[in-house]
Amino acid sequence: MGLLEGKKAVIFGIANEKSIAWAIAREFREQGAELAFTYANDAIAKRIFPLAESIGVTQVIKCDVAKDEDIHDVFAGLGKIWDGLDILIHSVAFANRDELKGSFLNTSRAGFALAMDISAYSLIAMVKEAQPLMKVRGGSVLAMTYYASEKVFPNYNVMGVAKAALEANVRYLAEAVGPDSIRVNAISAGPLKTLAASGVGGFHQIAAHVEAKTPLRTNIEQKDVADAALFLCSDLSRRITGGIHFVDSGYNIMGM
Ligand code: NAD
Repeated sequence: MGLLEGKKAVIFGIANEKSIAWAIAREFREQGAELAFTYANDAIAKRIFPLAESIGVTQVIKCDVAKDEDIHDVFAGLGKIWDGLDILIHSVAFANRDELKGSFLNTSRAGFALAMDISAYSLIAMVKEAQPLMKVRGGSVLAMTYYASEKVFPNYNVMGVAKAALEANVRYLAEAVGPDSIRVNAISAGPLKTLAASGVGGFHQIAAHVEAKTPLRTNIEQKDVADAALFLCSDLSRRITGGIHFVDSGYNIMGM
């Protein structure tokens, strides 16, 4: 029997087969979970529907996480077909490409607000809407973050600030929904070549540096994140909440 047998999970953030969220989806499906996907826009629809079909997922819902009404509709819709929700995956981030290169001083007011809205605030909006469904049996919320929340990485700029806010959200939300037996955690993943990563200037240099300097001397793969996600969303982690869990071949322990 799979570790997620009988559990229902909604996954935000699949863009293509390289997405971290897609690796999580496949793993959760293999472990017996019933899934629903959301997608940002019509460009992504072309890719996500065939992926969903390939693993027998029929609930695929459009949701721009910058819109409260979209987020509301996702959970209202799931409430009509599911008797509760066990898992929520937040694997979503966005910042203007021209603010993910060059000087941090070039961060605009509008660009700052956009990155914070989509990459950090959206987690609060999702958990608020998910709470009535998740408290039926208790559940697990998992977000994706990056070490640039704590340390300066060239070009990461406003996204580093947004990830710092996301990580603080994880802690505050964990306290807010803990009484409903809902846990909230984040995985801080090492660099992975995905659509989102391609927007960060000089991403390849970051990946090469990490590979050379990390204790395990290897970059991670999407499957490494999915395996950790399985633990954090299964009952094996039942008393773990509010944490930022590194899946980075140990890079975060290094001073130099
Ligand atoms: P990805 O591009 O596959 O996923 C990002 C997702 O965000 C996409 O599906 C995109 O459609 C979605 N998104 C953006 N704006 C949206 C909106 N307004 N509404 C709904 N969805 C929206 O890339 P990924 O690397 O799999 O990123 C997933 C998460 O992992 C992100 O939070 C990212 O910051 C984080 N992360 C990535 C890395 C990495 O190196 N790739 C490392 C650590 C953390």
